[in-house]
Amino acid sequence: MSYCIAIDGPAASGKSTIARRVAEKLNIAYINTGSLYRAVALAANRAGRDLASLDRGFLDTLKLEYVKSGSGSYELKLNGEFPGAALRTAEVAAGASCVATQPVVRDYLLGVQRGFAGGQLVVMEGRDIGTVIFPDAVVKIFLTASPEERARRRLAQDGEMPDGATLAEVAREIAARDKQDSERAVAPLKPAPDAILVDTTGFSLDQAVETITGLIARKLQESGTCITK
Ligand code: C5P
Repeated sequence: MSYCIAIDGPAASGKSTIARRVAEKLNIAYINTGSLYRAVALAANRAGRDLASLDRGFLDTLKLEYVKSGSGSYELKLNGEFPGAALRTAEVAAGASCVATQPVVRDYLLGVQRGFAGGQLVVMEGRDIGTVIFPDAVVKIFLTASPEERARRRLAQDGEMPDGATLAEVAREIAARDKQDSERAVAPLKPAPDAILVDTTGFSLDQAVETITGLIARKLQESGTCITK
């Protein structure tokens, strides 16, 4: 069994915020794997590469590291720098979804993700953590929320959408990413058969964090897994 708490789900389902808070409550590391796909898209854009046909030679030139921040969570460094807000633009989000369809990229990032989770329990958040990266994860949560709720949450987030974007535009962007993520041939977005499905529509952030932390604690106890700090 892998020492990984997998939290998967579609765009703007609240995964990142919830996963970060849950990891803080459990006092264990949190890893956001979407930032890896975003970093690949950002680096490819900067290098003037065609995002639709990346090759292993280019990927092997990238330096992707997770560095422990003061708050205890891990932040991604790309080629020695924290990319910061550059990872969160709508262009990079769409680029991430595009590079994520390519087997060469997924294969490369599979190694990065598996290499990162060591012997310590971590919360890892993404789309295929419970299905592909750690199919034997000790806990698997699949988060959803209604499309309207997800669009509202995304609009409330700074940086991701251009200023003045409407709810309808945000909903369209999310629907396009859902379609691309769910219909791709490799590692499509779908719940693992043994994942716990949690619909957070109508939940406050605190309610979602409480509910998910409770589910995780129960699963860890059932499996006899200790949280080591
Ligand atoms: O979660 P986030 O919105 O940052 O992810 C950006 C994109 O990266 C997603 O739309 C998805 O296409 C891709 N992704 C993925 N598998 C993951 C994490 C993200 O395919 N584990």
